[in-house]
Amino acid sequence: MWNIVVGLETHVQLKTDSKIFSPASTEFGTNPNSQVDFIDAGLPGVLPVLNRDVVAFAIKFGLAVNAKISPVSIFARKNYFYPDLPKGYQISQFEQPIVIGGNIEVRLQGQKKINVSLVRAHLEEDAGKSIHEGVDSLPKGKSGIDLNRAGMPLLEIVTEPCMNSAQEAVAYAKTLHRLVTWIQICDGNMQEGSFRVDANVSVKRNPSDDLGTRCEIKNLNSFKFLERAIIVESERQIDLLENGQKVIQQTRLFDPQSDETRAMRSKEDANDYRYFPDPDLPKLVVDNS
Ligand code: ADP
Ligand code: MG
Repeated sequence: MWNIVVGLETHVQLKTDSKIFSPASTEFGTNPNSQVDFIDAGLPGVLPVLNRDVVAFAIKFGLAVNAKISPVSIFARKNYFYPDLPKGYQISQFEQPIVIGGNIEVRLQGQKKINVSLVRAHLEEDAGKSIHEGVDSLPKGKSGIDLNRAGMPLLEIVTEPCMNSAQEAVAYAKTLHRLVTWIQICDGNMQEGSFRVDANVSVKRNPSDDLGTRCEIKNLNSFKFLERAIIVESERQIDLLENGQKVIQQTRLFDPQSDETRAMRSKEDANDYRYFPDPDLPKLVVDNS
């Protein structure tokens, strides 16, 4: 009998008028690159300025889940290369995130309840988007970069690996979705990407065994996909192990058409990102006044 273990990382887009470090608008669906400040484009010599509303929303979330609000938190640079990331790093929080711990009570079907423990919730900026079709100004066969999403404010909410089925994970995600829309920090629009879930999945034979090797399935933007992704990924891992093979730690994508997960890249760990405190941003100090 196999046990499934799931931990979720959810990117909640915060409902502010302007971006996290620039005055550009956050409106959805406008023409590509029409809402890009110099800061979002990563031009040399410009400096990010933290949006106060983003901090207020993160604190509101922390209070809603009985978490600790860090009196001092730090923005860090997460370095990687990708065409939609002009600066070559994403500003995120690594050590000392703004929200630490917390928990969310989740009702399952019937009377049953589970308590989902949160590790942390940290602030970060979103990256831009590569576009391959659907834009008139884009020549056929070419790709373009749209930086409207670059610098959108995100709160990434991370759970402990404490859920044990696709049903529990979906129930948690729905509860979290209801919470962040109810406290009005997120518009909750999943088609527009305002609420995106990454599912970390592993399996083990006995509940008391150590955690198995996990795979992370990225960017699940519907509850149905979240459920299917966890089910097919756990089945894939069980098959491997029952056939004497090993699970390789990987980042994977769920393909709804074929109803399977596919390898995207081998899993990087924190060292690969060369995190360090962003010298352009002071420490974020939150006091009680
Ligand atoms: P990273 O930041 O590299 O993705 P973390 O250790 O911060 O890694 O964990 C990210 C998420 O993965 C958390 O939600 C955590 O609960 C979950 N997780 C970690 N290990 C496992 C595991 N063995 N099985 C399932 N989920 C896991
Ligand atoms: Mg992760």
